[in-house]
Amino acid sequence: MQDFTGKVVIVTGASSGIGEATARRLATHGATVIAVARRAERLEALRAELAGIVPAVCDVTDHEAIAELVAQTTRRLGQIDALVNNAGFSFYERLTETPLEHWRETMAVNVESMFVLAKLVAPHMIERRYGRIVNVSSVQAQAAEPVVGAYAASKGAINAWSRSLAVDLAEYGILVNVVAPGCIRTEMSVINGVDETTTPMFQEWYVKQRKIPLGRPGASDEVAAAIEFLCGDSCTYITGQTLVVDGGLTITF
Ligand code: NDP
Repeated sequence: MQDFTGKVVIVTGASSGIGEATARRLATHGATVIAVARRAERLEALRAELAGIVPAVCDVTDHEAIAELVAQTTRRLGQIDALVNNAGFSFYERLTETPLEHWRETMAVNVESMFVLAKLVAPHMIERRYGRIVNVSSVQAQAAEPVVGAYAASKGAINAWSRSLAVDLAEYGILVNVVAPGCIRTEMSVINGVDETTTPMFQEWYVKQRKIPLGRPGASDEVAAAIEFLCGDSCTYITGQTLVVDGGLTITF
């Protein structure tokens, strides 16, 4: 277990799933967690449970609000040790059904927000010659499905951008890594009211036939454990890497 006492971490998409599990872990291990998402009631419930949570109700595409949030954080808490860029979503539609606005919205939430936050946070990390940035991507960046073109493109962009950022910021002691989850049971795995990890097709192919060698979908906390590792002081010589958390999904034919 890593000790995060005295550390300040921004986690986006902290109102559910992987982001919530990450916020929980970090706060439980001593961090002050600036928990960013739009659903205020979810963040308030988290704060009621864990003293280290500071709710920050905000849309990650609202760049002014994000800038104010970073300014307030450094003013009140004096530092930002780690940034977890996790907020993300997908449309489910084929190319011919995808309006340009959906492509742009996907890029704005999934990629642009990460760039904006990293740019705001980096100067504070550079000043202290210390920082950890973890960007949450997806196995969809490397393995294809038909209805998530914009999402896959956004996740591929995250991987490529993160490698460049890792080189860019290395001389300042800032480590930049990616966590790429596979099939994780969260609100996102519910598509059109059906949890895709419970369908007969999923159970047959991914579980019974072991397309996922570990034979089950993952849990949010299993991804959060990887994010936590990359955010902390146990991680000192890893940068520019993508840590795939998928039960082996992407190593099988
Ligand atoms: P959830 O839907 O449970 O969580 C998504 C989070 O992102 C929510 O907290 C949501 O909060 C937040 N969010 C979405 N849009 C915005 C926005 N515009 N501004 C602020 N917050 C926003 O899904 P997961 O936990 O599964 O997803 C987390 C990350 O993991 C995503 O980047 C996703 O792409 C990635 N991932 C997930 C996989 C899975 O199988 N579940 C697989 C691969 C990658 P709110 O609605 O309150 O704003």
